[in-house]
Amino acid sequence: MGLSGIEIFKQLPKTNCGDCGVPTCLAFAMKLAQGQAELASCPHVSEEATAALSEASAPPMRKVTVGTGEAAFTVGEETVLFRHDKTFVHPCAIGVAVSASESDETIDATVAAALAADFERVQQRLRCGFVSVVGSSDAARYAAVVSRIHAACDLPLVLQTDDVAELTAALDAVGDSKPLICGATTANADQVFALAKSKACPVVVRAEGLAAVMELTEKATAAGLTDIVIDSAPSSEGKAFRDRTFARRAALQKKVAALGYPVIAFPGAHAGGDELLETTYAAADVGSYASIIVLTGAEPWRMLPLLVLRQNLYTDPQRPMQAEAKIYPINNPGPDAPFFVTTNFSLTYFIVAGEIEGGKQPAYLGVVDAEGLSVLTAWAAGKFVPERIAKFVKDSGMAGTLSHREIIIPGAVAQISGELAEELDGWNVVVGPYEASDIPAFLRRRAG
Ligand code: SF4
Repeated sequence: MGLSGIEIFKQLPKTNCGDCGVPTCLAFAMKLAQGQAELASCPHVSEEATAALSEASAPPMRKVTVGTGEAAFTVGEETVLFRHDKTFVHPCAIGVAVSASESDETIDATVAAALAADFERVQQRLRCGFVSVVGSSDAARYAAVVSRIHAACDLPLVLQTDDVAELTAALDAVGDSKPLICGATTANADQVFALAKSKACPVVVRAEGLAAVMELTEKATAAGLTDIVIDSAPSSEGKAFRDRTFARRAALQKKVAALGYPVIAFPGAHAGGDELLETTYAAADVGSYASIIVLTGAEPWRMLPLLVLRQNLYTDPQRPMQAEAKIYPINNPGPDAPFFVTTNFSLTYFIVAGEIEGGKQPAYLGVVDAEGLSVLTAWAAGKFVPERIAKFVKDSGMAGTLSHREIIIPGAVAQISGELAEELDGWNVVVGPYEASDIPAFLRRRAG
């Protein structure tokens, strides 16, 4: 259990200086107790107090990284139950399982599908997060399959077996790549914890029910392990949902350290071979505290919607998604192509760019940095105003690219056309459509 606000308050300097961004030490202590502040925000706290408060200032959910290099993923470190309270921190990893008992051709095909599940949406890369290798009670075969997959792809690995011989052989082969050992049970805990410690790998502890999970996580921490993922071996998707919710609440609201770890989910275990049902369960897992989700297939029809759902949930609601502010040539424009401008709110950019592309007419789209706001909001906030647009146009070098001097602004900000014309000496400012959906017709009319 964590310390109470009063217990924390006793350790603070009690000067109420406000340097932590909170008016009083007591208010800061209360925030710290609720996991809504970090001890480091108080620059005046003594070393002794820091040591004493380390429990209270530790994140309520442990951060766990799986894999190495660019494809490594990090989960955990969440501080809120609901995204609108603040934000979710680390997107859940969604990956695919393959069994070592399958043929090499099938394994290769699954790995190829995992690598192909690699998409770009709103300028973010969305890809399959890992490959989980299910054991077949044959250590030599298991190590060979794990090595084969490791050589074929950069994705992190999950070693999905509780067979200590298989884990030992696989870790000898790929232990340096920091795979997730999945995992430790009541029966093999001592040996698996020793393996995890010797290879510095994260480990899943699996036991039936959260009470048994807590016993195992406490045993793991006593063994010196910190990078732990939990699996309560739920018997149904409903039980999985209840366990995850209970664990998240216990960790964040009650500071139950033994449950303060990311959770792994296997939606296929409850779907009876029905891939659509499995994917539906996985969607529920994405939205309900699963940090690592193991699927039985990585086909685009299931990966893409899950990754998009994840992207939507794990964006920071306080920071609008932004497209890069620059010139985007669309449909191979030449010097006589029309030149549109809009703001860098991702949704605005993608809708406008999509309509220009769909209109099959070449054009340039200038995306102005409006701090991620949509056109009207940005205009009202003074972020999409003539001075700023004119500076963008001058800096963009479009005067040297185009054979004309005409700029098309969104119809929603028609009122700035006169002022923009004054700012952009020698340019003709044209008011474009109010709705992006009218851009194709607008372009056709212009083309003649
Ligand atoms: S910065 Fe530290 S001493 Fe100052 S008000 Fe905050 S908690 Fe108190």
